Amino acid sequence: MNSYQIVEWGKPLQLRLLEKPVPQGDEVLVKITAAGVCHSDVHIRAGYFDLGGGKKLTAEQFGSKLPMTLGHEMAGTVAAVGGDVKGLTIGEPVVVYPWIGCGVCSHCLDERDTDCEAQRSLGSRRDGGFSQYVLVPKSRYIVASHDVDLNLAATFACSGLTSYGALKKMPAMTSTDRLLIIGAGGLGLAAVSIAPLVTKAELIVADLDDDKLQAASALGAHQIFNSSGSDVAADLKRAAGGPIRGIIDFVGTRQTAELAMAVAVKGSVIVIVGMMGGSLEIPLAMLSPRNLTIRGSHVGTLDELKELIRFASDGLLQPIPVSTKPMNEINQIIDDLELRRFVGRVVVKPQ
Ligand SMILES: [Zn+2]
Ligand SMILES: [Zn+2]
Repeated sequence: MNSYQIVEWGKPLQLRLLEKPVPQGDEVLVKITAAGVCHSDVHIRAGYFDLGGGKKLTAEQFGSKLPMTLGHEMAGTVAAVGGDVKGLTIGEPVVVYPWIGCGVCSHCLDERDTDCEAQRSLGSRRDGGFSQYVLVPKSRYIVASHDVDLNLAATFACSGLTSYGALKKMPAMTSTDRLLIIGAGGLGLAAVSIAPLVTKAELIVADLDDDKLQAASALGAHQIFNSSGSDVAADLKRAAGGPIRGIIDFVGTRQTAELAMAVAVKGSVIVIVGMMGGSLEIPLAMLSPRNLTIRGSHVGTLDELKELIRFASDGLLQPIPVSTKPMNEINQIIDDLELRRFVGRVVVKPQ
């Protein structure tokens, strides 16, 4: 099978001809129809995450080993199953839950794979979806896509799920509250699409790119705000017309986190999702009197992926813009993604 692998950190993915795996036991082989390209693929290909102050977290410290097939937003059809697999039909359209834990720690036994300290996630620690096939180690991570288009369904495995997971960490809000979404890339747009199912707050989306803001508006954002001005925090607070009680930062730079801190009101919850990198200085004496919550959010649970697909199947989600490209353009796509050239999600398809 053709797979696009990182062979050397920081270098383009290489097309490699690998043996098609034969699933054993509870393993499932999925034939990839669509694989979404995520901004974290930029970081993983580079081989590190920027921790600020000149510090780096290398992909190897993070648990990745080379060579490795990149790609963690995967949808396709069941191609083959191991002898212990029950309830799956060959050819059935499915989405793969990639955020797989060790399977034996207390988090994993409690179905919270995302909090596992020894994750074996597909496409970041084990071979993923920029390939004709992916081997999934347990059948429970295979989710029926129902009648959802597989190009869109693939994006639920990371951009949809990550946005949903972050939205669920917001406080209870009313229609007089404001939820600020920083960054209108694939994740930010997914959050705009899902937010009405989770919160009553009015949605404000901030980004530097007017085309992305227009896409957010088309998906139902109540307000869009170009954050390239000089006094962004004051302008944004004024424009908001209500307290910004929830903030999700899908960029995750010092600038965006500082903006979040500057527009927060007493009791606000700030969730940082983006990993563009850098660090933030927090005046500790402000956290308590301002009753602030600052926290991270990483992807979402298997059950949340099932919920999202059900929402989409029931017609409750406005689909984010998804463009499809051939998988052999993967390196150019990751380059373009690094320069934030796309509106919505790009999904690649094997030839
Ligand atoms: Zn991702
Ligand atoms: Zn575990």
